[in-house]
Amino acid sequence: MKDAAIAEDVSARFVQYCEIDTGSLEAVEEVPSTPGQRELAELLGEQAEDMGYQADLMPFGLRVRTRNDLANRTPIAFGAHLDTSEDAANEGVVVHTHDYKGGDIKLANGAVISPDRFAGLEKYVGDTIFTSTGETLLGGDDKAGLAAIMTFLKLMQVQGTPHGRIDCLFTYDEETGLCGAERVNPNEDTDARYIYVFDNVDGELGTDTFNAAGATLTIPSHEVERFQGYGATIRLNGVAAFPGHGKSKGMIDAFRNLPLVLRTIQEANGIVTRIDGGWGGIDIEAVVPSERDLAFFYVLNDKRFSDGTQAVVHKIGSAQSVFGGYDLSAVAQHILGVPYDISAEQTDGAQGYVQPRNIVTKDGQVVLGTLLRSFQLDELERFKAMVRASTPGVEIEDQYRNMAEALEETPEIVKVAQWAMTQAGVADIRSPHTRGGTESAVYTLAWGLTENGRRIPSVNLGAFGDGYHTELEWASLGGMMRAVKTAQFLRQAAVDGLL
Ligand SMILES: [Zn+2]
Repeated sequence: MKDAAIAEDVSARFVQYCEIDTGSLEAVEEVPSTPGQRELAELLGEQAEDMGYQADLMPFGLRVRTRNDLANRTPIAFGAHLDTSEDAANEGVVVHTHDYKGGDIKLANGAVISPDRFAGLEKYVGDTIFTSTGETLLGGDDKAGLAAIMTFLKLMQVQGTPHGRIDCLFTYDEETGLCGAERVNPNEDTDARYIYVFDNVDGELGTDTFNAAGATLTIPSHEVERFQGYGATIRLNGVAAFPGHGKSKGMIDAFRNLPLVLRTIQEANGIVTRIDGGWGGIDIEAVVPSERDLAFFYVLNDKRFSDGTQAVVHKIGSAQSVFGGYDLSAVAQHILGVPYDISAEQTDGAQGYVQPRNIVTKDGQVVLGTLLRSFQLDELERFKAMVRASTPGVEIEDQYRNMAEALEETPEIVKVAQWAMTQAGVADIRSPHTRGGTESAVYTLAWGLTENGRRIPSVNLGAFGDGYHTELEWASLGGMMRAVKTAQFLRQAAVDGLL
């Protein structure tokens, strides 16, 4: 297959996969959390079987398995995830292609993807850039990875390339806590000795990640006597960005001014009846006892805070009755207990952060979730102690761990990745600290901790562009082509005995 045919194959797959809604939902415990993910798994399974591969739907997602043509070669696996983030709309994704000539890319809804915001964008002059209409995310994270691996499989079929065993692990619910990867049984589901995940920015080779924990604060509703009041909905507007890159992506945290809004409601003798949102925006429904108390809400209307957060008051007025509400003083205390300089907005590089993620009203409770992240385990312990001290009753759970130390025992996985990426035309390979969870960490570490478990070292390679988890997400054809070729050279490394 010539480059033009590869480009056509990977583009067509990418568009087809992006247009299937596979948004995952953190609030749903089943895996997959949404039916679109299984629909995509089934489609990929059919496509792989049409190419002559074995495809099996598994509890973790889909496994595509090649024959083992060449004996005594080290089995390897490629990974990518089927789901997309719920942080932006997933429904009705329409992929637009742009022949990039430099400067801003204007999206159909008027939004702009600008080199000011995405420093690396200018490197793609002459490339084809994929975006959404600006109304939804694109889904390049991680459908670029899926498309690249599927095109790689197609190439092997068409060209009859000799290979050892290659397993492709396409996982459910990565975005909601690496749930699919955690369901891969290393002893039964794959023969791989190394797993190369394609779930990263073009040009990046991820070899570490945070140590992560999550804090959860639950507030039960408190019964109030029948309460006749006047209500309003207050919206606190921030700017959403992937929190690990909050500082460079201009994140404005809507949580920061939430304590002040809650205090204003309290001063008006009001009750919060519902609250929902995250760092990009929080909606608060509140009721006050008299029409006169509504004045407190007018103070908040169109208020702009110094950090760029804005409060807007909607639906003010009309008497209503309520039977319950929430005392959110512990929520305010929790938020105020996190120093600004360790928030997601203020940290980057090797720095850790503590950041409230979302707040929801569900089943008569308000639940606030907070992310605790650090590359150093001892710093993570300090973060936990700080949160426990500021917030009585908070529950803290460990989530994932940095795999960097474990990878030092198998340096060949990184060396071969660097070689394959270079061969594939990646000009400057970058290994910045990965400021988010990766399946590579799960594969490398999770089973190393169990007695019978087998450790499968894994690194995370580039496939998509930037702006992931937002409406400004983009991906490039060149980046996907390099991912296809990287997979080809990894196959060759296994055949040649470099792994
Ligand atoms: Zn991803």
